[in-house]
Amino acid sequence: MKAAVTRGEQRIEIEDVPTPEPGPDQVLVKIKYSGLCGSDVHRFQYGMAQPGSIMGHEFCGEIAATGANVTSWKEGDRLVGGGGSNPDGIPRASSSARYSAQTVGFKSPGWGGFAEYAVMDAWRPLRLPDNVSWETAVLTEPCAIAVHAVRRSAFRVGDQVVVMGAGPIGLLTQQVLQAGGARAVYVSEPAPARAEAARKLGATEVFDPTKTDIVSTIVELSEGLGVPLAFDCAAAKPTLQQGLEMVRRGGEVTLISMAWEDVPLLTVEWIGREVDMKASYGSTPEDWQIVISLMEQGKIDSGPMVDQNSFIGFDDMQATLTRLMTPQDDIQSVLVP
Ligand SMILES: [Zn+2]
Repeated sequence: MKAAVTRGEQRIEIEDVPTPEPGPDQVLVKIKYSGLCGSDVHRFQYGMAQPGSIMGHEFCGEIAATGANVTSWKEGDRLVGGGGSNPDGIPRASSSARYSAQTVGFKSPGWGGFAEYAVMDAWRPLRLPDNVSWETAVLTEPCAIAVHAVRRSAFRVGDQVVVMGAGPIGLLTQQVLQAGGARAVYVSEPAPARAEAARKLGATEVFDPTKTDIVSTIVELSEGLGVPLAFDCAAAKPTLQQGLEMVRRGGEVTLISMAWEDVPLLTVEWIGREVDMKASYGSTPEDWQIVISLMEQGKIDSGPMVDQNSFIGFDDMQATLTRLMTPQDDIQSVLVP
């Protein structure tokens, strides 16, 4: 089969590798779509992926073959490549951690979505409802990140909220907040195509923070108090400070995106309002199940996020990962293996 194999820092080679064979408790997945994640870009950019490994953890596809002991799946079943619960439970070594070892985060195993096929333990994928399109299904993993963040936050129905950054995670966080009954979702995003996607997805208003004083605008829109919640999905230099300044007394900023550089903070601007800062990372099987249910109910719209401009072939992988190191107007890139 064809696969995009990591061959060093900022180097991906398209190679013919043996198609993996499922073990007795495993399934072979024929990959339909495989999303390029910001974390894949970081692994590529900083040489963090093991040479010889195949990245990609945001994929959907069909069962191509099952191992001898597998009764839960049959050939042709549609699935998303993750989110299942490990039947062996939480390994003891990690049970003291606040989150279980099932939390899928930055160190997710190389499941190898950037290939024609992938092998997985049969418990790992989740079944895809018939009415969920492949274009929507490929967003399941990043949407689970958004669900995890919103559920970790102090969000309540009727809140006015701000999402900073309208990349895939920002656009999905926006949709989860809308599905959860936000009174208003304001989005801050300088890139025109991303801002447009946020608008199409129903943002109350979208602001360009390079042209608008975003903090005073948000404070004005929230009766001079500031909003109760802001979500940082940008990891741009100014966004964390802006978020801390735009929330009200006792408000909260949830940090989803990871900055790989120093971020300047001026505490005097917000410490007096006793603002909380919360980190959100990865997702749990429960988050994935919530996503599948939201998608089944039509609450997640992939239309403005995954379209003809999103799809790339193996031959575009090197160039696309390189370009995404400094994303501009890209929204979601998807490998069609
Ligand atoms: Zn991801």
